[in-house]
Amino acid sequence: MSSMLVRHASVLVSMDDHRREISDGGLFIRDGFIDQVAPTAELPQTADEILDLSGHLLLPGLINTHHHFYQTLTRVVPAAQNANLFNWLKTLFPIWARLRPEDIRLSTQTALAELALSGCTTASDHLYLFPNGSQLDDEILAARETGLRLHASRGSMSLGESQGGLPPDSVVEDEDIILKDSQRLIETYHDPNPGAMTQIVLAPCSPFSVTGDLMRQSASLAREYGVHLHTHLAETQDEESFCLQKFGYRPVAYMELLNWIGPDVWFAHSVHVNSQEMRLYGEAACGVAHCPTSNMRLASGIAPIQEMLQWGVKVGLGVDGSASNDGSNMLEEVRQAMLLARLNAALHGASLSGEDAPALMTARQALELATRGGAAVLGRTDLGSLEPGKCADFFAVRLNHLTFAGGLHDPLAALVFCSPVHAEYTVVGGKFVVKEGKLITLDRPRLIEQHNRAAKRLLNG
Ligand SMILES: [Zn+2]
Repeated sequence: MSSMLVRHASVLVSMDDHRREISDGGLFIRDGFIDQVAPTAELPQTADEILDLSGHLLLPGLINTHHHFYQTLTRVVPAAQNANLFNWLKTLFPIWARLRPEDIRLSTQTALAELALSGCTTASDHLYLFPNGSQLDDEILAARETGLRLHASRGSMSLGESQGGLPPDSVVEDEDIILKDSQRLIETYHDPNPGAMTQIVLAPCSPFSVTGDLMRQSASLAREYGVHLHTHLAETQDEESFCLQKFGYRPVAYMELLNWIGPDVWFAHSVHVNSQEMRLYGEAACGVAHCPTSNMRLASGIAPIQEMLQWGVKVGLGVDGSASNDGSNMLEEVRQAMLLARLNAALHGASLSGEDAPALMTARQALELATRGGAAVLGRTDLGSLEPGKCADFFAVRLNHLTFAGGLHDPLAALVFCSPVHAEYTVVGGKFVVKEGKLITLDRPRLIEQHNRAAKRLLNG
């Protein structure tokens, strides 16, 4: 038995069912799970470890629902800086084909380090290329060293250029191998229990890079084992045209046909979805990973998040891969989600004044997407809020920042409206990943040096 007392947070943001915000709040933690959430005066006085958060804002750990860690090695590649999705992919595929197992390991740690410093405690990653002997195991083992929770998606691509797909034949895999490896990974690593550090997800890359048959077989394998399904969907207008031309269906209808609609499925993006499709998502309890920065970076469009929420769709946030963001900062993504939803309201509401003005996404709603929303999307009832029985996953930011000066009448809103700051503490399952602003599970200077060397090798070929 080990215990931890967290006390005197200026404001504790619970994100519980009542959305309680507790002044001078704290937590009492036992063995990695939350035992009590209350004003400090009502908590036990002692514990094995005590963390004083005077002058800090305390929140549930943020949950990232879409990423491609390996892309941290190919940020701002000149030829891909100003391209839309399909051209961006065609530029980067040959570079990614040079990835080695060591690159997967380094990029996993770099991305998770950035995420942890932005308050993230659980990340989903989508790895769909396995060149030169790389395996999802490389990512899982590297993530374990960082202390963050990982939902590792066994991605795949099987529809090469010669078969009418987008990726070059050199990076696609045989479907039998994909399915066998998926099964092996689930049996080796998937933990369905509360507090799980590792879960496996099956994730054929997108409608334009795998066959319908692989999507169907992945769905039945996932359901046999009770793991989640994930893919990119309705990201761009190009994808919609591709699906209509090649399959005769819009992307969402194509998913329905392949048995890919249900509470165990979440889609990255869903920018180009109509009201009927959003209603279907809501009724079937499908999730969406909203990636506002990536959607702007690749000029993909604006996902209608406010409307999705009205249809009862589960929505989480994703930073997406670092070749289309080009960062892994969850707090920045929360801010972008709020701002982009407001721009969308302006574009769809004739006027922003008067009774007819569309409701604007609030800072609290944006943070809800990154906490409760993300947990719902990943199917984690043990994450997403600070409540007794949930995992002790949280982060805290210092409030005496220049960034927040003049905004402390509402510290929670300041965290979203003002520029993103780094977490002072990030704790996963009661264990520190960031302490006093420093990463404690990784050697940051060494990681940066190795990462830059690997990136240079990849780009130079
Ligand atoms: Zn993506």
